[in-house]
Amino acid sequence: MSAALTSASDPAVHVITHCEVCQGTQFTTLATTDREGKALGTVLCEGCGLVFTNPRPTPEAVKAYYKDAYRVEYKASLQPSPRHVYRAGQVAVERIGYLKPLLSPGCRVLDLGAGGGELLYLLRSQGYEASGIEPNEGYGEFARTVLGLSVQLGGYQEAKVEPGSMDVVTAFHVVEHLEHPVEAMRVMKGWLRPGGQLLVEVPNVASTCQWPGSRFHFAHLFNFSPKTLPMAGRMAGLEVVRTFTSEDAGNVMCVYRRPEVEVAVGAGAIPGHAAEVGALVRGHTALKHAFTAAPYVRPVERLLRRGREKKVLGKMQDPRALLDAAAAQVGR
Ligand SMILES: [Zn+2]
Repeated sequence: MSAALTSASDPAVHVITHCEVCQGTQFTTLATTDREGKALGTVLCEGCGLVFTNPRPTPEAVKAYYKDAYRVEYKASLQPSPRHVYRAGQVAVERIGYLKPLLSPGCRVLDLGAGGGELLYLLRSQGYEASGIEPNEGYGEFARTVLGLSVQLGGYQEAKVEPGSMDVVTAFHVVEHLEHPVEAMRVMKGWLRPGGQLLVEVPNVASTCQWPGSRFHFAHLFNFSPKTLPMAGRMAGLEVVRTFTSEDAGNVMCVYRRPEVEVAVGAGAIPGHAAEVGALVRGHTALKHAFTAAPYVRPVERLLRRGREKKVLGKMQDPRALLDAAAAQVGR
């Protein structure tokens, strides 16, 4: 597959000529390999600073990649393991923390890319009317049958959601995988009632907490910054409420609002941002990274986390019990 990505004339790839956010046509190369050292072209849009894979593998090539990458984890059952449920439950506790300011008692929440339904389970336990959409059949079925949640199988394009019916829509680590994130945000806007809010989280390309060599991921077609993520939402006709990053700055989140009346969409250009992103990515060398705290703090944190995980999983394996324990952490 890597060889297929070296040639733009190969039928397994296609060349992007217009930027998804600003429609610009001037791109510069940022990287030629992914985090595993395989050939992957990553470019920077000179008009807005959006970073994306170009040429792009076809949807079939991406599907084949997912099948390979997740085969080990899915095993024969194709359903999340207790370890996965525990980890996803811990992530869901963190996500509810981000979501709290958007939630009102009994409100309707829709989670795009619901995975095994861990966030939905926690939202339900808090009294919210939560439902989801999940393209992975094994995980989606698990959410439905094991956790008893309302989850539609498939992508955002096929999902049946009553227009204007949602108070809150969430998409955690979803839009960077999509071929058309702006279009997806426009669809999500349509699910919201006027004044309803959307929270999108993606990896932050403008962060230095990761090893420089592991910045680009085959499955991530887009790499957003704290400036390009809000702009993508504006291009979808959303109003930006607030943009913020996770504590380590590795992820960027944006809260948008569906305006009461449709607003005119601007041009999408962000003057000077391409230079900022280019300097940050190119300037974050392995040597510089070695002089930051991240390479030393992260393994210690990971070790502590594994210790806690082993202790909990030694006591319980049942997915509902694991998520009930996670739910008990919320609001503490
Ligand atoms: Zn652009």
